[in-house]
Amino acid sequence: MGIAENIEKLERSIGEYAHRAGVRRDEITVVAVSKTHPTPTVKQAYDAGFRIFGENKVQELIGKAPELPGDIRWNFIGRLQTNKVKYIIDGKIALLHSLDRLSLLEELSRQCQKTDTQLDALVQLNIAKEETKAGLDPAGLDSFLGETAKHPRIRIKGLMTIGPNVEDEGQIRRVFAQAKQIYDKYAAQLDGFEYLSMGMTHDYGLAVLEGSNMLRIGSAIFGERTYL
Ligand SMILES: *Cc1c(COP(=O)(O)O)cnc(C)c1O
Repeated sequence: MGIAENIEKLERSIGEYAHRAGVRRDEITVVAVSKTHPTPTVKQAYDAGFRIFGENKVQELIGKAPELPGDIRWNFIGRLQTNKVKYIIDGKIALLHSLDRLSLLEELSRQCQKTDTQLDALVQLNIAKEETKAGLDPAGLDSFLGETAKHPRIRIKGLMTIGPNVEDEGQIRRVFAQAKQIYDKYAAQLDGFEYLSMGMTHDYGLAVLEGSNMLRIGSAIFGERTYL
């Protein structure tokens, strides 16, 4: 199937899940995860209407972005090493999904200060408690958000989490439901706290049903990734 058909099918499916969840389709943002795909392929998704793209490697992002239209809002969704922060600050990314530790917060803040810029970011939570997954322990979220208040150039826009890598839909939904509960608590208190980024190709339907409003979708748009 081509990208246009993939997108059509995906749109229909998200629409159905949104309906079941009792939300409007336009309340859900889709980040098209373009990692590993060459720019002509990414451009096809752009031409089909996507404007928000997600990458998980700094080198790949800064290589691709100049070759693609300037109105793309690049989202960074992967683990970000502090020594790479300087390459993506200064307007190169619209949203960081993976703020997960104090040292990263401090380096982001320092670089934003240096370049007189601001950055929107989501705090990544590790709710599934899988060792392979990055993310802050939810128990530390309260004090972490307290720290972020000392760094006004970093604007916290919400939370991100990755569902557990299991078959059991109940287990996946419980993780998403927990994220939603935490999200709701802070969304009620904090200005501009408006995104709950959860759901990928294999679990976005469950994520929408549990209240996600931001999906990060790669394979369902671009097809399977082949790593060289
Ligand atoms: C690759 C990736 C995605 C998209 O994965 P698909 O299964 O292709 O939809 C979403 N989120 C993160 C953090 C990723 O690294």
